[in-house]
Amino acid sequence: MIRTLRNAMKFADLGLSDELLQAVETAGYTEPTPIQAQAIPQVHMMKDLIAIAQTGTGKTASFVLPMIDILASGRRRARMPRSLILEPTRELAAQVAENFEKYGVNHDLKMALLIGGVQMGDQVKALDEGVDVLIATPGRLMDLFERGKILLTGCELLVIDEADRMLDMGFIPDIEFICEKLPQTRQTLLFSATMPPPIKKLADRFLSNPKYIEVARPASANVNIAQHKVFVPTRAKREMLRRLLHADDVQTAIVFANRKTTVRELNKSLQRHGFASGEIHGDMDQASRLAELDRFKSGTINILVASDVAARGLDVKGVSHVFNFDTPWHPDDYVHRIGRTGRAGAKGRAFTFVAPEDAEAIENVEKLTGMEIPVYALETEAQPEAQADRPRRETRAREEKPKKPRKAEPRTERPKPEKPHREREPEREEPSVPGEWNGPVPSFLGLSAL
Ligand code: ADP
Ligand code: MG
Repeated sequence: MIRTLRNAMKFADLGLSDELLQAVETAGYTEPTPIQAQAIPQVHMMKDLIAIAQTGTGKTASFVLPMIDILASGRRRARMPRSLILEPTRELAAQVAENFEKYGVNHDLKMALLIGGVQMGDQVKALDEGVDVLIATPGRLMDLFERGKILLTGCELLVIDEADRMLDMGFIPDIEFICEKLPQTRQTLLFSATMPPPIKKLADRFLSNPKYIEVARPASANVNIAQHKVFVPTRAKREMLRRLLHADDVQTAIVFANRKTTVRELNKSLQRHGFASGEIHGDMDQASRLAELDRFKSGTINILVASDVAARGLDVKGVSHVFNFDTPWHPDDYVHRIGRTGRAGAKGRAFTFVAPEDAEAIENVEKLTGMEIPVYALETEAQPEAQADRPRRETRAREEKPKKPRKAEPRTERPKPEKPHREREPEREEPSVPGEWNGPVPSFLGLSAL
């Protein structure tokens, strides 16, 4: 369950209509998350808003829910969307659309999704018929706008979602252009996980007297997560992963990769090597992702290979291990990824693979988290039995160069050590502070002895 406000707010206290409350109840949310509790009343009051909260804290419903009520009155007009939601990727745009469908079941609202990779014709047709909500990626919207297929002069509510991601992807000039085409008197909402200076500037320019809400993010250098970087040549990554999966007492792991193709191929490779693994990536629809997640939660598989976009918003944390098969390109993603581990009473483990092409990315991660991640010196010649004394070794191994894997070694079929030595002893550690993570806790953690 996602962390919500205990004994405090209920959805019913937030000024939402009965039809909407019913839809929320059907969807299974019982209490608003902190960002929802704070944002929803502001949006309802037609205020401009800047809302900062980390990924997975329920920002989508913070605007979707009040928007449904706001848009309930008013009329659609051809080619003039009444509201606009900008999303950086089509996956995120599609997720927001799903939210509108789910919570808007009791309302008569028309929605159009303007994203790349979809036939433009159908999108234009939907617009021609008039929409209440237009959900778009900036690129596709600019395209249509320049062809004169769309008028933004009737758009009185603008949401800039995932603003920091927009910045990373170079969309700020497009957003500025779009903002200028919207009527001056409108409501503007900006959601982001972080607030870097260019986003602040954007907000200063295009929001008027906004309410500022921030939900504290958990410390990026979470003490309950033992972080390591592993220098490994690109072509040795798979083998390194298999070794660590065998040797590091892995119970449940998410393996993140930067590309969808890597996710697919890596999962196949793991399965070929006898691991119970599954995959989630951006080419799967939300239903298939959730189905795969269920297999993970139920223990049918214990390794989930994932891409960042697909993993965003998925309710899973508390795994014993996170592996970054690639160092994430966006340093913020590092924090989100490793936040999936770190269990109450036991340290989570996060390994980040660093090949030469990851060099710049790891530098950015270390800049963001303000710490140098200790190097994990796994000697390729090391026998599994020797791993009991790894903790001491790894701390002084920082300067060590990555060692090339030895060619002659029978690497792939390394037998699992009979009784893996635990290099950490959870019972001696400080218990972690519950509630540091804002995201949901998978139910299987409550059932098992992990
Ligand atoms: P963000 O945009 O902040 O990254 P999302 O809006 O994508 O987060 O929500 C993350 C996850 O939390 C989603 O799976 C969503 O269904 C779930 N969620 C959102 N609000 C609630 C709530 N009030 N109670 C339970 N789960 C929620
Ligand atoms: Mg979001």
